[in-house]
Amino acid sequence: MPGPADQIVTVSLVDGVARITMNSGRVNALGRALRRALSEALMRVARDRAVTAVLLLGQPEAFSAGADVSELNSPESDNSQSGVAGLGSGVGRPDLRELIALVEDFPKPVIAGITGVALGGGLELAMAAHARISAPGARLGLPEIALGLLPGAGGTGRLPRLVGPERALEMILTGKEVSASEALRDGLVDAVMEDPGSPDAVRWTTEYAATRAPGRTRDRTGKVTEAAAVPGTVSRLAADAVRKARDPYAAQAAVDAMSAGIEQSFDRGANVEQEKFEERVKSPESAAQRHLFAAERAARRPAYLDTDAARAVRRAGVVGAGTMGGGIAMALASAGMPVTVVEAERAALDRGLAQVQKNLAASVSRGSRTQAGATQLESLITGSLDYADLTDVDLVIEAAFEDLQVKQGIFATLDRFVRPDCVLASNTSYLGIDDIAAGTRFPARVLGMHFFSPANVMPLVEVVRGSSTDDATLATAFATARRIGKTPVVVGVCHGFVGNRMLEVRSVQAEQLLLEGALPGQVDQVLKGFGFRMGPFEMGDMAGLDIGWRNRKAGGRTAPVADALCESGRFGQKTSAGYYAYVGREGHDDPEVEQLILEVSRKLGVSRREISDSEILERLLFPMINEGARILDEGIAERAGDIDVIWVKGYNWPAYRGGPMWYADHVGTGYVADRLRRYAEQCGDVSLLPAGFLSKAVDSATSGLGLPG
Ligand code: NAD
Repeated sequence: MPGPADQIVTVSLVDGVARITMNSGRVNALGRALRRALSEALMRVARDRAVTAVLLLGQPEAFSAGADVSELNSPESDNSQSGVAGLGSGVGRPDLRELIALVEDFPKPVIAGITGVALGGGLELAMAAHARISAPGARLGLPEIALGLLPGAGGTGRLPRLVGPERALEMILTGKEVSASEALRDGLVDAVMEDPGSPDAVRWTTEYAATRAPGRTRDRTGKVTEAAAVPGTVSRLAADAVRKARDPYAAQAAVDAMSAGIEQSFDRGANVEQEKFEERVKSPESAAQRHLFAAERAARRPAYLDTDAARAVRRAGVVGAGTMGGGIAMALASAGMPVTVVEAERAALDRGLAQVQKNLAASVSRGSRTQAGATQLESLITGSLDYADLTDVDLVIEAAFEDLQVKQGIFATLDRFVRPDCVLASNTSYLGIDDIAAGTRFPARVLGMHFFSPANVMPLVEVVRGSSTDDATLATAFATARRIGKTPVVVGVCHGFVGNRMLEVRSVQAEQLLLEGALPGQVDQVLKGFGFRMGPFEMGDMAGLDIGWRNRKAGGRTAPVADALCESGRFGQKTSAGYYAYVGREGHDDPEVEQLILEVSRKLGVSRREISDSEILERLLFPMINEGARILDEGIAERAGDIDVIWVKGYNWPAYRGGPMWYADHVGTGYVADRLRRYAEQCGDVSLLPAGFLSKAVDSATSGLGLPG
């Protein structure tokens, strides 16, 4: 019965157990050919009297990673009949649901042997088996929510029957993968074995077949009886998580399907799941997230990057143990890299290292890190007051004060101490990388690595390519960012790079809206309604208003409301007063702030008016889009998708709205340009006039920036 190795499904018989092995592509995506081959193999085995049970296996890296995402983007194509996209289509049979039903209703016990990953449709297939064995290193999950979808082949019905509704909701609404040991603890798998295709696994399967009648997962009720008895339980359990979900629409759809599957029947749940799945596939929210998925992949291949030029980074250095330096050191050490942190002063170093310890202790008590892991990580971070301790590092990331002279001084010193092939990166938020590089002997090895706060958590790194940065430097920084689990995006040099440059335009409008008639609460609420976690004023209060105030004073700039707040000692959360009054971290509207704003408007002779929520939204977002168009025009960002990735990963732009440039395409670039013209006129502000090809888009009556779809 064995088939040739190049077949996508092979069958071998061992002691009455048919080992059916999937071997299709890199990750066993459940495409049409694999589904067909698998179902044919199952049919043959069903008729074979010599077979008493089936062990369904994948490859070491993947049992199956589920659907091929590209199939979702071409729903009309023949390919769409495969993977998740082929659900219930009728064409390309069997579709995934039919294949899953074939497994679940199989007349002989089917055991899934999970190696590598079992994700999405792959896990749904495994859950339809009558039992599951997992390799210790396997990862299991239903990540559909990351694409604005819900599991579409029975996952919302079967997962709660195996692990209970609470755990199932957690997995489906966060999309997070679980380990084999977690899966065993929760009942998602029945045994963990080194090799699920081994003679031991065959023996386990034979015993299982001999002692138990094949039970269908859909018929298991033990873990859902309680929730089924009290209608509304699933919704109640999920309410908080739905609100916080990356895509609340997809999350609600999953909850609806799960509720129906538990409170009514498995089949009713499956119908709701199918309806909701089809609705979500067509939704703009899912399209936005599929765009981001493609944009993230594209950002990994910037035009200027020669990945082969990357040098190995064995040890790293960080200069400055403040907010950012500590976080960056943690991020580097998390990937097993020894890090030397150099500070100017003993007290600052002690403070910084103590903060790292505190963060690690917090992550241990949260359960996101083991004590052993934390101890190991801490042992990789060494503090120093001497630049001579950086002589053998391969990369230094500077995170000292945001002051050009300070940074130039540090880079000149580094230049003397480090090896000539050591990469020197600055975490500057705004300063010119070329100015920083100018004072060094080898400007070619200088670039920016702009992390976001908290640096050990936030995924984005803008990798800033200076005019002298060479290939090896860029590639080394990019590869290091990838290695520590970040999302690097290559950008060019300008004030604030991509993210902060666009943020600044938004801040100017936010301040202007206060002068013209809005209040902080209204503005923040509008952005939260759009899907941001925080509005600009809440964000300002959290970060501290004094930093911007000092910068403005130094640069001879003003922001009348923000300046007035600072002048009255309101620096944000740290002084329990900013745009809001604080009790702990809880902010409340403050009549004093309203008075202060009215006073500033009056002094400046601005007559206040009622401002609609839609104007607030457009005034905040459209100038950002405009700036994004300029950034593209200038070649600071390579693609519109890069800007979207930066805003979603670094500034919490809601993923289901695809990023600013995607959003522009969604509402129509013509509309955006029209409104900008109107606001430019209304505010007498020429900087609001549509720029570059945003303007051209209207003139030629075309819509769309040609963004990747
Ligand atoms: P911070 O004030 O918390 O820390 C700066 C640290 O650098 C201090 O501990 C200081 O003692 C040390 N330092 C100053 N001069 C030094 C020198 N010559 N040698 C060694 N150490 C020196 O500042 P931060 O918020 O961590 O910001 C650091 C850099 O990161 C700045 O360039 C900032 O613009 C940038 N940045 C900050 C954020 C943020 O949200 N805080 C985000 C992105 C980038």
